[in-house]
Amino acid sequence: MFSDKTVIVTGASSGIGAAIAKRFKNLGANVVVNYRKNQAGAMEVLKSAGSGEAIAVQADIAKFDEAKQLVDQAIEAFGRVDILINNAGITADNLMLRMDEGAFDRVIATNLKGAWNMTRHMTQPFFKQRYGRIINISSVVASIGNAGQANYVAAKAGLEGMTKSLAKEFGKRNITVNAVAPGFIETAMTSALPDDIKKTYLATIPLNRFGSVDDVSDIVCFLASDQASYITGQIIHVNGGMVG
Ligand code: NAP
Repeated sequence: MFSDKTVIVTGASSGIGAAIAKRFKNLGANVVVNYRKNQAGAMEVLKSAGSGEAIAVQADIAKFDEAKQLVDQAIEAFGRVDILINNAGITADNLMLRMDEGAFDRVIATNLKGAWNMTRHMTQPFFKQRYGRIINISSVVASIGNAGQANYVAAKAGLEGMTKSLAKEFGKRNITVNAVAPGFIETAMTSALPDDIKKTYLATIPLNRFGSVDDVSDIVCFLASDQASYITGQIIHVNGGMVG
């Protein structure tokens, strides 16, 4: 399905990013598996099934120059990049009274500026080839807010605004820009939550289960496919019905 395509997945050494990278590899794409620290996780993704070729590239996408090196290495390895998945994300939760400036800056730098860095460096290559697919991984909390996550929610709401703006800016060049907003997905990020909080979340999910990483990777691959060529500027919710 993606045998003639190259995809960069940021933050692909675990969780949702790893699942997305594996799915693309399985569907025949060349995959650039970006990680920041977890080299072992990235190596596991390289070993996963599928005819696509995959390479692991270490880069902190919050840093403008490292994001550039990631794009350059991808183009050097595969000749071009067709699909960019801005997935890398962190949390540093705290109530406002206790949240320090560093926690705000770190979360914005990775979740919002990181996606901007990657998109900025891919803009010229996408323009030149008059083709590109950008999929940003947001979160349901961008729509509903969440106590203790003012930094994270601000970053994700910003990412959704950037998605809609760039869809307008890039449409003429055959580049689509969409976001996927997962609800509560079972990954390392969420397994750390206390059981009583998990129970409270479950009560708000009409489908009565937490999502899986594959629930997210399915829709990401669809948005990157030719079947989705008339979809741009959209925020696609994958949350079991939590928010419409
Ligand atoms: P995760 O398991 O903690 O994975 C996060 C990934 O991001 C890791 O591969 C990590 O790499 C990478 N990363 C973090 N900072 C980075 C940086 N500066 N540069 C490059 N890579 C970086 O988290 P997840 O749950 O899969 O979350 C993935 C995305 O989905 C995030 O954007 C998150 O906000 C979003 N999301 C998750 C949920 C959920 O329920 N899990 C819900 C809504 C949205 P290293 O470990 O190598 O540092």
